[in-house]
Amino acid sequence: MTDTAKPINFIQQIISDDIATGKTSKVITRFPPEPNGYLHIGHAKSICLNFGLAEQFQGDCHLRFDDTNPEKESDEFVQAIIEDVQWLGFDWAGDIRYASDYFDQLYQWACDLIDEQKAYVCELNAEQMRDYRGTLTEVGKDSPYRNRPAAESRALLEQMKAGEIAEGKMTLRAKIDMASPNINMRDPVIYRIKRIAHHRTGDRWNIYPAYDFAHGQEDAIEGITHSVCTLEFAANRPLYDWFIENLNVPTSPHQYEFGRLNLNYTITSKRKLKQLVDEAHVDAWDDPRMPTISGLRRRGVSPSAIRNFCDSLAVAKTDGVVDMAQFEHFIRDDLNNNARRAMCVLKPLLVTLTNYQAEEQFTAPAHPQREDLGTRELSFHQQIYIDRNDFSEDTSLSRKKFKRLVIGDYVRLRSAYIIRADDVIRDSNGDIQEIKASIVPNTVGADAPEGIRARGVIHWVSAVNSVDCRVKIYDRLFTEATPDSGDKNFTEHLNPNSLELIEGCKAEAGLAAAQTGDHYQFEREGYFCRDSKTTDALVFNCTIGLRDNWKA
Ligand code: ATP
Ligand code: MG
Repeated sequence: MTDTAKPINFIQQIISDDIATGKTSKVITRFPPEPNGYLHIGHAKSICLNFGLAEQFQGDCHLRFDDTNPEKESDEFVQAIIEDVQWLGFDWAGDIRYASDYFDQLYQWACDLIDEQKAYVCELNAEQMRDYRGTLTEVGKDSPYRNRPAAESRALLEQMKAGEIAEGKMTLRAKIDMASPNINMRDPVIYRIKRIAHHRTGDRWNIYPAYDFAHGQEDAIEGITHSVCTLEFAANRPLYDWFIENLNVPTSPHQYEFGRLNLNYTITSKRKLKQLVDEAHVDAWDDPRMPTISGLRRRGVSPSAIRNFCDSLAVAKTDGVVDMAQFEHFIRDDLNNNARRAMCVLKPLLVTLTNYQAEEQFTAPAHPQREDLGTRELSFHQQIYIDRNDFSEDTSLSRKKFKRLVIGDYVRLRSAYIIRADDVIRDSNGDIQEIKASIVPNTVGADAPEGIRARGVIHWVSAVNSVDCRVKIYDRLFTEATPDSGDKNFTEHLNPNSLELIEGCKAEAGLAAAQTGDHYQFEREGYFCRDSKTTDALVFNCTIGLRDNWKA
């Protein structure tokens, strides 16, 4: 076990104990997504935990798709999940596994249960089944089919499997206890008829195992030693254990539950995220506003920021809501350390330097503290752009409040000259079109001469040698901290201003070569990355601002 400054969590403690007592020799965990959507930041917590435990205890972690629900699942989701897990930097032991690989074995186990009078084919319809099930305060009633002969159930199951029975007409149920205080134990359905094709097994099956009938046995087949999942499955654990006890399974896994990650101002439910996509509230699953792994990737969040954030979270036996600002702290911290610096003027204003006719190249560091990232070249010409917000005609603005260019005053251009604004040129509407300014000679990399004080430092690009680009600035997707709590309809709390597109931006020439996956700090603006989906133009997504200035 590696030394960590962090106190160990309860699952690490259990595993350490199991290793110490010899109960476990090799730790095997798994991450078991259902391929019915893209992974989100909540799944990242589970991925980091499961793969992290295997790494820490020199064990294995499996990647297993729990694909028991064909109508909601697809190969698109399988591929997206594989890509996301890999991108996060994790590698699974052996081949990728699928619940559907075990369909024959699961069917055999269902037959075994019937033969032992522990399962029966039930002909109650869904509504009747609900009536018979009882409530939290009332026990359920036995189905009239509960004691039918095993041979009859076997024959009916065979017919269900062969596609001879209509959907909804029959189910296979485990015979456990209709009076159990745990509703999960009241003769749960273990097979249902679904006459639809499966993304892997095609038309082979007309019946599919319930998730609850598959999950624990899959763990048993794979020899999972510590089956870690979220708290909502705690009430299903007795059922998983019942199957393990009543079936001839190779190993007896134990499930441990931890609190799921919820983040405020967003949602972590595949079903609801799917609704955002299906109803076109966002572009796609990888829309940079989505809390999906693919959305975060496209937004410019790095795998290490996600992993560091997940590692910082408590693994506890209670659910909690984590503040988005905590996640943003890790995103910003990672980018501050790793993103190359660059200049991009979002709202360009032309500046003509009337006393400058030359052409120069300045060299600036790619990162102020990271010599290993090298340098970049900046071309300087008579005409440059600065940001409109960096100029004011109001000479009464105090130097402290407005550390930018004011008419008649001085400012330093980052890595270049100090300049003075002399005059403004207006268009026919009276809007400022251009500034006439002059450089203060010999101020590149040198202090200002006596009597001249720059108000501050601003960014700029050459008007001759820069590239056009568009910039997308994102805000939180929801205006409510808990958009889906209680009976709230989360779509009513979408932030109408979550995306701002800024066109006509000008970036330093080197950014023409920006690649998807490169991270930049646009000086004084924020962190950006090139959008992976727009290939015909240079589009940058704002990952996050430089400071946390989001007001709740
Ligand atoms: P969702 O509720 O978003 O549909 P899910 O639990 O149905 O998620 P699965 O594909 O079944 O999605 O999840 C795979 C694994 O990820 C499970 O072990 C589950 O417990 C875990 N997981 C899902 N959501 C979270 C979350 N918010 N925090 C931590 N772990 C999660
Ligand atoms: Mg689920």
